[in-house]
This record gives sequence, C-alpha cells and structure tokens, in this order.
Amino acid sequence: MKCLALHSGGLDSTLAIRLIQEQGIEVEGIRFFSVFDAGLSSEEVCAREERVAARLGIRCRMIPFSEDLLALVKNPLHGHGSHLNPCIDCHARMFRRASELMLQAGASFLITGEVLGERPMSQRREALGIVERDAGVGGLLLRPLSARLLPPTIPETKGWVDRERLLGLSGRNRRPQFELARRLGVTEYPPPAGGCLLTDPGFSARLAELLRHNPGCSVDDVWLLKAGRHFRLAPEVKAVVGRNEQENVFLERQALPGDVLIEAEGVPGPLTLLQGPAAESHLETMARITLRYGKAGARPSAPVCLRTVGGVARRIEAAPAEPGVIEALRIAPPEGGGSSRGD
Ligand code: SF4
Repeated sequence: MKCLALHSGGLDSTLAIRLIQEQGIEVEGIRFFSVFDAGLSSEEVCAREERVAARLGIRCRMIPFSEDLLALVKNPLHGHGSHLNPCIDCHARMFRRASELMLQAGASFLITGEVLGERPMSQRREALGIVERDAGVGGLLLRPLSARLLPPTIPETKGWVDRERLLGLSGRNRRPQFELARRLGVTEYPPPAGGCLLTDPGFSARLAELLRHNPGCSVDDVWLLKAGRHFRLAPEVKAVVGRNEQENVFLERQALPGDVLIEAEGVPGPLTLLQGPAAESHLETMARITLRYGKAGARPSAPVCLRTVGGVARRIEAAPAEPGVIEALRIAPPEGGGSSRGD
C-alpha cells in the first residue's frame, strides 16, 4: 500500500507522514514550490526539501507551481485570506494536481498535514469540504492529524489505514504537535513563521501595488518583489535598488533586454534595475537615488553609469537625492520575510 503526501516542509505534514509510516504504509512526497516561497531562488527551496525528505526516508517530487498560484492570486474563486493568499483555491488546485500524480505514482490515496481549525481560511470544516469538492478528491484525501474529527475516508473504511491510530487534533494550539514530535523523534523542523510570502503583509502590499499598475504581471515581475527597495516613477516605470551584494547579483540576473542597470562609477554602492518606458528624468532620478544609498551619498555629485541591457552604456554626473525624493517615490517595504502560518 502506498500513499502520496503533500509535503510543505513544515511540522504538521512531517507528523502526518510519520503517523502513516507507523502503519507500515509506503509514503511518497510531493512538494509544490513557487515564487511565493521565501528565498531568492527555487534552488534554495529544493535543497531544503531534499534534506527534509532524506530525514523522513521518502522520495519527494518537486512540482513547479508559480504560474498556477499567481493566476489564483489574480482571480481567486473563493477570495483571499487576511492578505493576498488565496488558500482555498490554492489547496484545491494542489490537491487536483496531486490526485493526477497519485495515479502516475501507483499510490492509492493522498494525505496532508492539515489540522481542523488551525488556520482561519483554509482549515475551517466548511473550507475542507469545499477544497475536496473543487479538487475532485472526495473520499481519497486523508488528514491523519484530524481524521477522528472528520467523516471516515475510503482508506479508513476499506481498512488500508487503522482510523483508531489516527488523531483528532483541532485548533490553533500547537502543543499537541510538539508533544507528538517528541514521541515520534522528530527533532528538526522549521519554526511556524517563514512560509508563504502571500501571508506576509509587507510582501502582499508590494504585490497589490504591482497588480494595480500591471494586472497582467508575470512570475518574473513577482520574483523582483522579493529583493531590494522599490520605487514607482510612473504607472509603467519602476525601479529596484539592491540592499546588499546578493541582491545586486540577483537584480542583474533578472534584468531583461531594454531594462537599464544603474550604478555609481568608482565608488561602492548598490545596483539599480529600472524597467519600463523611462523618460530621461526617470533615469536621472534613479541615478540620484542610487548614489544616496551608496558610499557617494555624502558627496555633492558623482559619475553614474547607465547601462541598457542589450544596448549602450553611458555616463552622467548626478547629485545624491534628498530624503524627500526617496520618500515620495518609494513603495512600502516588506515587513520581514514571509510571516506565517497559512492563511
Ligand atoms: S499559504 Fe499555503 S495554501 Fe495559502 S496561498 Fe500560500 S501556499 Fe497556498
């Protein structure tokens, strides 16, 4: 007997896997990853997941999910949670994809680490039912941590899984999970914070601003929201200023033909990426802001290089921007790096 586990890398899904493994059932994991995971590259997420899967002794398939999730953020059937997180639609889409993969993997049912009532949007009793209906997985989706509080599923009624050895957890108190982790010898798991960026208020504010100006924005546009200080110069003109070397490298990698890269010449400082149909005044303003954030910030003026990707480079002399200019153009910065707990 084999099941497919939707694995988020967190404690709940890890415990659900361990509970099912205890019943002698083979588990294969699937992890949906997207631009909305914390971190500046998907490789980070995949490497983290590989380590977790190795500890659990399971194989885990990584499934790209950025396009799906961005489409749901733009147009959620069941609305957003407390920020821009469309958790009900997101779960339904993941479970539908998982049920297709279940057949390919030769598995008989699906499991998740969901806990009834733990999260305000997607884990209400009513929402669990909506997700099952929308995903078309009724009866084959088992939630081992809350199973005893939910109607019996096919794996339970057919005797593939012993319902008596499953749990009846509910609510937001996570002490039972920590105790279970101790009993099962699960010692390494990420803290509850640090999940999906769509639950982070600062990131959601940036994304909302992007969607207002560019409702058709792409996954690449969203990647850019994860780094730097952001400035809106005109409805279609935007710039991002790196905050450290890692972000400077990231911004250079994200630049597309026609974008402009701006940096001070001969003085350490940030790299700025400017996108959109920029006027000369926009280029000058961003040259000045770039200087303000670098070592040239205290000088009356300094040379700045403006390099069009796939085009020409030129130099201008500029004075560092006054704080008022920065304040007027800056888009709200994110508060931290991804909060939270799901909804
Ligand atoms: S918190 Fe989870 S369910 Fe909600 S949108 Fe993010 S990835 Fe999807």
